[in-house]
Amino acid sequence: MTTNKFYGALADYHMHTPLCLHAEGEPVEYARQADELGLAEIGFSEHCPMPSHFDTLRMKSGDLTSYLAKIEEARKAFPSLKIRLGIEAEFAEGEEDHVKRFLDRASWDYVLGSVHYIREWNFDAPEAVSRWKESRDLFGQWKLYFDLWKKAARTGFYDSLSHPDLVKKFGFIPSERCDELFRDALAVVAEKGPAVEINTAGLRKPVKEIYPSGNFLRIAKNFDIPISLGSDAHAPGEVGMNFREAVALARACGYTQYARFNQRKRTLHPLPEVEQKTGEWEL
Ligand code: ZN
Ligand code: FE
Ligand code: FE
Ligand code: ZN
Repeated sequence: MTTNKFYGALADYHMHTPLCLHAEGEPVEYARQADELGLAEIGFSEHCPMPSHFDTLRMKSGDLTSYLAKIEEARKAFPSLKIRLGIEAEFAEGEEDHVKRFLDRASWDYVLGSVHYIREWNFDAPEAVSRWKESRDLFGQWKLYFDLWKKAARTGFYDSLSHPDLVKKFGFIPSERCDELFRDALAVVAEKGPAVEINTAGLRKPVKEIYPSGNFLRIAKNFDIPISLGSDAHAPGEVGMNFREAVALARACGYTQYARFNQRKRTLHPLPEVEQKTGEWEL
């Protein structure tokens, strides 16, 4: 195991497995990469099963045993690395019971909450770009998204809400200031208690920006909402990716701590120091 002052203080809580059919590498390989970086802790967060009218790029209901076994295998291979059992659970209106029934089947360390659908529209799928291009009302789409995100917070199902401003993925960002949308959504989060995730995958997408934006995160900090960290790795090489940028952004927004979870119990841990270039983050 490598010791590394920076990574040794951090936990990557968002990574996938081949069970979702759009990620490569077994959990043991993700764990090897985490161990090489010297990360303190990691957690897997596979896309949860959903009914058949959803996309099929996710684990199936019958895959749960295999998911648990793969994680157990990674734990055995890297006993000094803490490996948490998480899940990336969808929020979709009308499917709450489905999600709840699935969540009841395992003893999770944490549950990430994601909104990938605006009504029936899988707005973050590559095929969604043409519809985004034709959209005349970006602000309206963003409002629909954050309304759902607020509802996700209200369910109480989730420990951290992942990639908070995922709607920006393809770079279709309204010209209006969205601070009111953010404030309104984050007020609900603050009241209901989940954390929000800083997710570095946005840097690997057309928007080329961490989820969420500095504007969003500063408002979250004003509400004192805790953060968790995730690379959203879909390949072993993406574990811990761009965590320096994530920590720099968190610190620029006033955060000094981040959350880890163990059996759904949250603890806060100090963020490591990171060199910050001035003007790097537009706030
Ligand atoms: Zn995925
Ligand atoms: Fe996601
Ligand atoms: Fe994910
Ligand atoms: Zn994700």
